[in-house]
Amino acid sequence: NDEPERMPPPPAAKGTMGRRKSVAPQELNKGNKRQSCVIKPPEMQTKKGKFGEISRPNQKFFEMIQDFRETLEITPISASEHMAPQRICVCVRKRPLNKQEINKKEIDVVSVPGKGTLLVHEPKQKVDLTKYLENQIFHFDYSFDESATNDLVYKFTAKPLVQSIFEGAMATCFAYGQTGSGKTHTMGGDFSGRQQNSAKGIYAFAAQDVFANLNHRKYSHLDLCAYVSFFEIYNGKVYDLLNKKAKLRVLEDERQQVQVVGLEEVYVSSAEEVIKMIQMGSSCRTSGQTSANANSSRSHAILQIALRRNDRASTLHGKFSLVDLAGNERGTDVSSNDRSTLVETAEINRSLLALKECIRSLGMNSDHIPFRMSTLTKVLRDSFIGEKSRTCMIAMVSPGMASCEYTMNTLRYADRVKELNGNSKASG
Ligand code: ADP
Ligand code: MG
Repeated sequence: NDEPERMPPPPAAKGTMGRRKSVAPQELNKGNKRQSCVIKPPEMQTKKGKFGEISRPNQKFFEMIQDFRETLEITPISASEHMAPQRICVCVRKRPLNKQEINKKEIDVVSVPGKGTLLVHEPKQKVDLTKYLENQIFHFDYSFDESATNDLVYKFTAKPLVQSIFEGAMATCFAYGQTGSGKTHTMGGDFSGRQQNSAKGIYAFAAQDVFANLNHRKYSHLDLCAYVSFFEIYNGKVYDLLNKKAKLRVLEDERQQVQVVGLEEVYVSSAEEVIKMIQMGSSCRTSGQTSANANSSRSHAILQIALRRNDRASTLHGKFSLVDLAGNERGTDVSSNDRSTLVETAEINRSLLALKECIRSLGMNSDHIPFRMSTLTKVLRDSFIGEKSRTCMIAMVSPGMASCEYTMNTLRYADRVKELNGNSKASG
């Protein structure tokens, strides 16, 4: 962007939303680079634009949001930020608008001022048809805007958990959100190229740190080995992604120990090996279905890295479960509403509800962990008990106005997983 220095906005721009009829593009461009994704590229403006005026379906809301943003103080999270280790960490990540959304002139209704805060500018209309915004504020442990890389997200979410499994913890990290919000991008790897780059996701970063620690003298006396398993839960059934999607049974013994019978657990000696397995498992996950993407969005994928002692019984020392959850959207929006889809949706809702309850129990140090409510929580039972259990949830949100309702659902869920300050409303 080689635009010259811009004039400061007229005083009326601050705090008086919706008064001005139109906003010059230079003014829309004002502010920082991170918002540039919502602005039409210049070549499109000259092609279609009516002399400096951008027309989009919800122009009024667009202007109101831009005006609101001018009043925001923005301090994005940086890699050097201090991190306080905690048992339950809840974060939120906003993805950028994608090409289709930009072409459709979709409005970005989410702002991330930083410091764990996220705002949704919900477009509303009064009975007299006056348009207004309901600006809802949410507070989390960390909030990541559309410019955050997987690397940065990893540093604040899963990285501390890798450390914890060397200290004997059972750790979990969840990617939660609607389909298309960036769960697989975050966990499985960056899609920015032609193909998914499995080396640039949280799965791979975690594997790299596991091996860095294994080779570190601080932990060498433990004599540990790493093992990987990768499976999927679809409609309450477990399928092994490292063994041609073999369907497996989940059994609970008299000591309430849960076992996935016959699950492949592969010894690994380098991060590269793990990445190969992620690639293999991920391709297995999405193939063999008429609508590949739709299928993967309706299942939970779980990558586990187990640390075992090099003794005769291969005693379990610690375990990290990284979970790419099924899309949390309700059944109503699914294109087909046949019976199997309804059953699927009910099962997903049940498991996500169970997950929330289990994490809350962990947070309250409760003796009663409602893990039997779903297959997902059953297979993760170990992770919700004991002093050393730690968990991190990354709530993913899409920025578009069309996703506003789902975004609100996601944020409310994340909010309840760990009730921090609650969420407050600031209408404007
Ligand atoms: P989900 O797994 O939640 O359904 P995906 O991870 O498949 O969503 O993301 C949907 C699309 O959005 C993908 O094409 C992905 O490349 C893109 N995407 C998601 N998050 C980001 C991000 N942070 N930066 C750039 N592109 C992203
Ligand atoms: Mg996905």
